[in-house]
Amino acid sequence: MTDTNQFQPNARGYYGEFGGAFIPEMLYPNVEELRDQYLSILADADFQRDFQGLLRDYVGRPTPLFEAKRLSAKYNTRIFLKREDLCHTGAHKINNTVGQILLARRLGKHRIIAETGAGQHGVATATVCALMGMECVVYMGEVDMERQKPNVYRMRLLGAEVRPATSGSRTLKDATNEAIRDWISNPVDTHYIIGSVVGPHPYPDLVARLQAVISEEIRKQLLEKTGSELPNYVVACVGGGSNAAGAFYHFLNEPSVQLIAVEAAGHGINSGHSAATSVLGTAGIIHGSRTLLMQDEHGQITEPYSLSAGLDYPGIGPLHAHLGTTGRARFVSIEDEQALRAVAELSRLEGIIPALETAHALAALEQLGAGPDDVVVLNLSGRGDKDLETYLKYADKLTK
Ligand SMILES: *Cc1c(COP(=O)(O)O)cnc(C)c1O
Repeated sequence: MTDTNQFQPNARGYYGEFGGAFIPEMLYPNVEELRDQYLSILADADFQRDFQGLLRDYVGRPTPLFEAKRLSAKYNTRIFLKREDLCHTGAHKINNTVGQILLARRLGKHRIIAETGAGQHGVATATVCALMGMECVVYMGEVDMERQKPNVYRMRLLGAEVRPATSGSRTLKDATNEAIRDWISNPVDTHYIIGSVVGPHPYPDLVARLQAVISEEIRKQLLEKTGSELPNYVVACVGGGSNAAGAFYHFLNEPSVQLIAVEAAGHGINSGHSAATSVLGTAGIIHGSRTLLMQDEHGQITEPYSLSAGLDYPGIGPLHAHLGTTGRARFVSIEDEQALRAVAELSRLEGIIPALETAHALAALEQLGAGPDDVVVLNLSGRGDKDLETYLKYADKLTK
């Protein structure tokens, strides 16, 4: 669990060949301020007291590590579920937003901006802004606002202003551009909360450190339950990669622990409707960092597809690009239909309805090759309430 190793970014924010900070010059002061201060703020005792206090009393941590006996019997191995679905607001995203809003306060900021695609990060941001009484503006593509209406209402109910991005394809990348424009215009009073381990350095490292509480807890809980802090496998789904980064973090330097990152293959890797970045992606620059992304021969970003809104992202964070290309993590891709079957399976075997993103990780259990003496920890990133409408639409696949 040391800090200086090949899975930590270097001073310029590189994990191997991936990472860095590719940003417009006008944004240098904002990003530099954050880069110069984030590590000392995170290490500060006052910050840690506030962060740990909110994680406990507001988010509901530690989340349980549940031994899923019926699921284990089905796959003939020993499976533990890390219950991030029980976090306040229903997923791991709140760990990051709680941490970043405390950081923003210490940087003297009193206004928060964020971008959101499916709306889940927007809701987690609006939630902590309400908690702290801070102004909140969330940028969201006009098309996404139409697709994700309940989350737009949630954000508004929480007191946030949702501003539509009306240019380009009117989806996530356009919302990101609007948020960056806002930040350039408001460098002094505003903090930009990015929702995954993506973006320019130091965001990937900042978000990974805030989510690392997941693997910190897993080690302690596993020791109690199995007599060892180390599982044989840790499995997590990857959109941008924040829940996986959190679940992997304290195992990165434990070579006996196999790290399995699960991406969305949509209709199939070669169908033209997929989000399997580790297979289809090539190195390029997206959202301010060099990483693997899906692009055409002209460097234009390819529109990703997954039935799951949270995995529908054309890149992966630079840490994951590094874990994939060095072989430290194994990447698996799961199609929509496999994920839907996994939703039904967990619901019926364990009485837990998972988020569609999480279901991709569950569907990968089949391909692990884990045996009866192995211990598998699967990060249950979120609950399925938000996906009920989708589940209803595919009810024939889920209930037969
Ligand atoms: C947003 C989301 C994800 C994907 O984001 P990561 O940054 O890759 O973790 C996965 N699961 C759930 C439940 C989500 O809401």
